[in-house]
Amino acid sequence: MEKKADIAMNLEWCKSCEICVKFCPQKVYEMGKFYPKIIAPEACTGCKICENLCPDFVITITPLKEKKKLETA
Ligand code: SF4
Ligand code: SF4
Repeated sequence: MEKKADIAMNLEWCKSCEICVKFCPQKVYEMGKFYPKIIAPEACTGCKICENLCPDFVITITPLKEKKKLETA
């Protein structure tokens, strides 16, 4: 599957609440010992549910179409 978005995580801010793990419709994350791990980056659709629900602003999703636009702007 073609990658649709970049996922960036600033785990220093993560409080391990697991919201991202539970609410990602594509099961991109799995809970590790302390922090969520990205286990299926290619499944991410760029919907930003995780970015919007994370209470600590850990996650930044950049859909690749948006990224291309930013790079050519
Ligand atoms: S953007 Fe959507 S599909 Fe991608 S990791 Fe977040 S919740 Fe899952
Ligand atoms: S929702 Fe945010 S704070 Fe909660 S586990 Fe995921 S990245 Fe960490």
